[in-house]
Amino acid sequence: MGARPAVCAADGRRDARRQDRGLGRRGQPHAEPALTVASDRVTLLGTKGGPAIYPGAPVRMPTATLVEMAGQRIAVDCGLGVTRALVGTGMHLRDLTSVIVTHLHSDHYLELGPLIHTAWTAGLKTPVAVYGPAGLAACWEAFLRSMAFDIETRIADEGRPDLAGLVHLHTIGEGVFAEIGDVAVSAIRNAHPPITDSYAVKLEAGGKAVVLSGDTAPFDGMAGFARGADLLVHEAMIAEGVDRLVARVGNGERLKAHLEASHTEAVDVGRLAAKAGVRALALNHLIPVDDPAIGNDNWERAVRAGGYEGPLHIGQDGMAIGL
Ligand SMILES: [Zn+2]
Ligand SMILES: [Zn+2]
Repeated sequence: MGARPAVCAADGRRDARRQDRGLGRRGQPHAEPALTVASDRVTLLGTKGGPAIYPGAPVRMPTATLVEMAGQRIAVDCGLGVTRALVGTGMHLRDLTSVIVTHLHSDHYLELGPLIHTAWTAGLKTPVAVYGPAGLAACWEAFLRSMAFDIETRIADEGRPDLAGLVHLHTIGEGVFAEIGDVAVSAIRNAHPPITDSYAVKLEAGGKAVVLSGDTAPFDGMAGFARGADLLVHEAMIAEGVDRLVARVGNGERLKAHLEASHTEAVDVGRLAAKAGVRALALNHLIPVDDPAIGNDNWERAVRAGGYEGPLHIGQDGMAIGL
């Protein structure tokens, strides 16, 4: 037998404290290189599936991820909390350059406008490229209108640049949709009914590839899209937790039907990761994320039951994974 595959499942509070002190994730059960801002890494900023947040220790936040590759910093999805979480990685918001939104569910773009506006108040003077489904431009324009008084005041009073002119919206389509420095970014339409403009994305540079599933049910093209990726970040759900979740949230069968049609059970994530031959797997968009009866053991058991035997990172907010 070789070494037991690494499982990265640190206690969230400990992990959050480390993040706040900028200490990275030393002391994990497997060795990782010391991480600096300049390293190629993926930071899971928010790992909770769905938009609502609840009391907890720690409070778990909706989806957002920072991919740092080839000197680029690319934020993928902008769920509530993304701005605070990006700063928590040590990033200065005036350096924001690239944002990708996978689909227009609020847990993936609610904080897009506040992120860019806050970056602007933090000194942003350079262009920000925002990539997302058709419809994202209308959201951004409406945000600008909603904040017009503040924005016009700050331009006149503080001499800030015109915020609208700094932001460039681009519509995502299948195939390569952006070259961000040396990072090629491509997309495949995933399976997230009733939304059809919903994408998995792949970021490639210097022979490394990171794939993010977005929100999706299992679908045929995903294994090929993720083939051999250095890291697959995939959403995950545990069915027995869903029953308790819908009972608690109180939207009953409608919510359950949506979750089952539009998301992926952890066992199927394990099947996909094994089939695609990915080098490491991270789970995010966890459903449920705050059920005391579902811990890291449950997530790991489900993924391993799907046949995946490689390194596994069970997402926590602030978890950084070296590439
Ligand atoms: Zn979502
Ligand atoms: Zn969604």
